[in-house]
Amino acid sequence: MRLLEEKIISEGRVLSDQVLKVDSFLNHQIDPSLMNEIGKEFAARFVNEGITKIVTIESSGIAPAIMAGLYMNIPVVFARKRKSLTLTDDLLTASVHSFTKNETNEISIAKKYLDSNDRVLIIDDFLANGQAALGLVEIVQQSGAQVMGIGIVIEKSFQKGTEKLKELGLRVESLARIASLTNGEVQFINDKVE
Ligand code: 5GP
Repeated sequence: MRLLEEKIISEGRVLSDQVLKVDSFLNHQIDPSLMNEIGKEFAARFVNEGITKIVTIESSGIAPAIMAGLYMNIPVVFARKRKSLTLTDDLLTASVHSFTKNETNEISIAKKYLDSNDRVLIIDDFLANGQAALGLVEIVQQSGAQVMGIGIVIEKSFQKGTEKLKELGLRVESLARIASLTNGEVQFINDKVE
């Protein structure tokens, strides 16, 4: 998605060969009109999958997921990373190791928000080694619902996540695909979808 790639080039900061910082439009400050375009694009890519629900993880998955939910006219559920006093229902949980924080969190979604008839689209901001997405897949599968695909805003294709998800037979649609972050430069994979 060209608009997203341009934004990454103009505002992204390469912190290391492994990490890209995009705090000005996705991970801290949020650009609503870019999120709107991202939501529209996810909705277009998954239009034929009969999606009934979007599942994401707090906090940075919420903005792109909510815009996709708006275009698809379906609810968005986000997995919580910490136990909350108000999250007292029966829970579906999975263990997720965070790439950026280097800590393991138990993520959870209340059982009542996922139904075995649901056809779920999982959305997240970044795909690195796939831990967050795999945790969400595990939770959706525990509910008996079906994972119809994974929508990622920024995929770092040089890490293992995409491969792991595709090995499970899952469809992965990433709006920006980064081939490398070496020498402080962002290099994209040419994407035929565009
Ligand atoms: P994974 O679970 O695929 O290893 O990592 C994905 C999660 O880690 C995302 O939810 C995102 O929050 C975070 N993440 C991974 N790589 C990056 C990165 O290069 N930049 C930022 N800002 N977050 C990242």
